[in-house]
Amino acid sequence: MVKNMQILDGKALGKKIEEQVASDVKVLKKSTGHTPGLAVILVGSDPASQAYVGMKKKACDRAGFYSVTHEMPEDISQGAIETTIQMMNQNPSIDGILIQLPLPPQIDTTKLLELVAPNKDVDGFHPYNVGRLNTGLDGFVPCTPLGVMELLAEYGIDPKGMDAVVVGASNIVGKPMAALLLNANATVQVTHIYTNNLKAHTKNADIVLVGAGVINLIKEDMVKEGAIIIDIGINRADNGKLVGDVDFEHVSKKASFITPVPGGVGPMTIAMLLKNTLRAAQAHAKES
Ligand code: NAD
Repeated sequence: MVKNMQILDGKALGKKIEEQVASDVKVLKKSTGHTPGLAVILVGSDPASQAYVGMKKKACDRAGFYSVTHEMPEDISQGAIETTIQMMNQNPSIDGILIQLPLPPQIDTTKLLELVAPNKDVDGFHPYNVGRLNTGLDGFVPCTPLGVMELLAEYGIDPKGMDAVVVGASNIVGKPMAALLLNANATVQVTHIYTNNLKAHTKNADIVLVGAGVINLIKEDMVKEGAIIIDIGINRADNGKLVGDVDFEHVSKKASFITPVPGGVGPMTIAMLLKNTLRAAQAHAKES
């Protein structure tokens, strides 16, 4: 067992960041009269999406934001969502627009993400912001990987020079995670469902970051002694409990640092949404 294994406590850091945001919101309101506003588009009745939106709404309330959720039925048309986004783009009370994913199959998600005004794109999914991230320019960065970077920084972990392996290559988790690590001068490998022999990649890594949505994907024999393990996965186990993608019980014995699920990356994602929305609001207040 690695001595002094440390838990990366996203719950504690998330709370600290939320408190800072709440205090900055008071300053913004006092100096400009503007309250940060977040609009959420929620389509259908997927329980996980509803739960995530509920958590985001509560976090907005705690931070002193104005927030509005546009709930739409599963069979909504593309045009109706587009109209809502256009209205939110024009609405000066709204600083951030979040489209809760996934959307039903009749909806062209890419087209909707491209319709969000880049300066209200607090999820960082618009190709404008994706391009800025990949060229190392300032912009909105997707909340989950951004939260991972803040968590690493809080514990004094600098990815520079590290061999990093990202498991999962989605646009919202794996790809922006890899871009951030590369921007931080790590040597980055991105693996995915078609990767042959995942273990051959993970077992030599200094840091393994997993967001695949597969329970127990990363086992003890797949990581090296002293590795840093970031578990981004959120899965519902048969017993109803929330678990990540890492076999925490066994992998934690070898890790130097590891995130728990829940209480690791999840709360950081919400804290980053608040931070991104505050940042958008500060910029909009300056412009007006
Ligand atoms: P996704 O389904 O869009 O992407 C999953 C990725 O994992 C794909 O690139 C796929 O190729 C890869 N993958 C799947 N099975 C694999 C396997 N056996 N081996 C290697 N790679 C494999 O999912 P997503 O939206 O990126 O989410 C991934 C996970 O992260 C989910 O569990 C999701 O709930 C979780 N998530 C957590 C947060 C958070 O705040 N902690 C935020 C977003 C997503």
